[in-house]
Amino acid sequence: MNHRSIAIDGPSGAGKSTLAKRLAQELGFLYVDTGAIYRTVGLAGLRQGTDLSDVAQVAAILPQLTITMGYGKDGLQRMYLNGEDVTAAIRQNEVSACASKVALIPVVRDFLMEMQRKAAREHSVIMDGRDIGTVVLPDADLKIYLTAAPEARAKRRYQELLEQGQHTDFDQVLREVIERDRRDTERETAPLKQAEDAVLADTTDLDLEGSFQLLLGLIRDRLGVKEGQE
Ligand code: C5P
Repeated sequence: MNHRSIAIDGPSGAGKSTLAKRLAQELGFLYVDTGAIYRTVGLAGLRQGTDLSDVAQVAAILPQLTITMGYGKDGLQRMYLNGEDVTAAIRQNEVSACASKVALIPVVRDFLMEMQRKAAREHSVIMDGRDIGTVVLPDADLKIYLTAAPEARAKRRYQELLEQGQHTDFDQVLREVIERDRRDTERETAPLKQAEDAVLADTTDLDLEGSFQLLLGLIRDRLGVKEGQE
C-alpha cells in the first residue's frame, strides 16, 4: 500500500504537536511525535544521573535502553522506556532541556532514526519534529515549516505549564525557549531548518483554530486528501 507522509518541522511551541494530532485525526493518518522519542532518552539520562554534555556517557547508556512507541485506545501515542509507560513523565519541564541536549549527539539520532522511518513505511503519517523534512523523511509528500515569534511561543508554553500545575515565571520560560531554539538551530547534526521544499506557516498572529484551518487547507490543496482517508 502506498502510504502518504506529511512532515511538520519547527521550533518548540509553534503548535506542531497539537495541530498535527488534530490533523491526523481529521485525515485518518497516524500522528508520530518524534520529540517524545528524544524526551524518552533525555528522561533515561536524567534518571541515571548521566552527564548529558558528555557524549561517551550518553552513548554508554543507549545499549541498555529499550524505547518503544505504542498507541492507546484513544489513538494517541504512548512512550515506553524499558517497558514502563513514561508518556506523562517525559512532559516534565526539566525533561525538555535534557531532550534537546541528547538530541545534539549523532549516535542518539542514529539510534532513533529507524523507529521513525519504520512508522512512515507502515502507515500514512503526520510526523513532527525538527529534522523530519530534511533528514528523516526527505521524500515526504508534503513538508511544512511551522513557526511563530519566540514571545508567542513562550506565552503558549507558559499557559500549558500553568494548566499542568507547574508554576514558573514567564521570563524564565522565554529564556528556555530561546536557549532551546539556539541549541536546535546551531547544532551540527540535523539542525532545525526549513527544508528547501517546505511550505512556511507562521502562526504568531493565529489562534489554534486559525492555524488548524491554514494547515488543513494546505494539505487538502497539495495532497488532495479528504477526511478519514488513509
Ligand atoms: O518537540 P519537543 O519539544 O517535544 O522536542 C524535544 C527536543 O527534542 C527538542 O528541543 C529537540 O532538541 C529534540 N528533537 C530533535 N529532533 C526531532 C524532535 C525533537 O532534535 N525530530
